[in-house]
Amino acid sequence: MLIIISILVLFPQPAEALWKTNLEMHVIDVGQADCIYIETSNGKHVLIDSGDEHDGKKVVSYLQKRGINRIDYLIATHPHHDHIGSMDDIFQSFDVGKVYLPDIMYHTTYYKRLVQSIANSGVDQYVAKAGVKVKLARNITMEFIAPPEKKRYKSLNDYSAVLQIHHGKKSFLLMADAGVKSENELLSRIDGEKVDVLKVAHHGANTGTGHALLKKANPDYAIISVGRKNKYGYPSKDVLKRLNAHKIQVYRTDKLGTIITKSDGKSVKFFTEFPQS
Ligand SMILES: [Zn+2]
Repeated sequence: MLIIISILVLFPQPAEALWKTNLEMHVIDVGQADCIYIETSNGKHVLIDSGDEHDGKKVVSYLQKRGINRIDYLIATHPHHDHIGSMDDIFQSFDVGKVYLPDIMYHTTYYKRLVQSIANSGVDQYVAKAGVKVKLARNITMEFIAPPEKKRYKSLNDYSAVLQIHHGKKSFLLMADAGVKSENELLSRIDGEKVDVLKVAHHGANTGTGHALLKKANPDYAIISVGRKNKYGYPSKDVLKRLNAHKIQVYRTDKLGTIITKSDGKSVKFFTEFPQS
């Protein structure tokens, strides 16, 4: 009897609560670029891309205001400037645990700066490729489902590191700028019956987000990271039509600013910087 009472005093909560970790995903408004920050309640920090060349200050201050001084996992989804343009600011401002990049070289000053920052920091570098899994908590796993190892593509966007995050019963699919070729290949690698939150590929361009993906992933929510009045006309009307046809609720950074998703593993809630109309 005494043993039972002692156990109840020591562990007053249900066993599940002892290891339940919550997750927040911030799709930071960096205009026509990508920057996604993920924080778990057990203290893990993930940064997926860091915006364009001029977004460094904004991203660094956003993270510092949250009291962050370390990024455990830094992921450069692919070498285009609107994803890695400010990576040197990240290395200068935070301790970086591990960095993941797809296995593709690119001859631009931005990419060279990233490579230099990695070399200077001495951080452990890993290849972002399908099959690599990172456990963030007992109930949170982050898995790369693209690009496949050694596969070659014509478009740099198809080398995008695509991530699926499982949090309890909830799942997030972050498409970076993957094009239709990569998208169709990764359908079979999407794990589980459905995805809850989709980060739409390539700022809503009509280079992806096809019916096959939307049918397979079957998301309830889609987030588009896109610049106000951008010169490309993103997001494409066709993509918006397809999202609408699949009855997916769309959140756009050009209309709502930074978009925050909070998950407890059973449900997801959205918070936006600007009031929703
Ligand atoms: Zn992009």
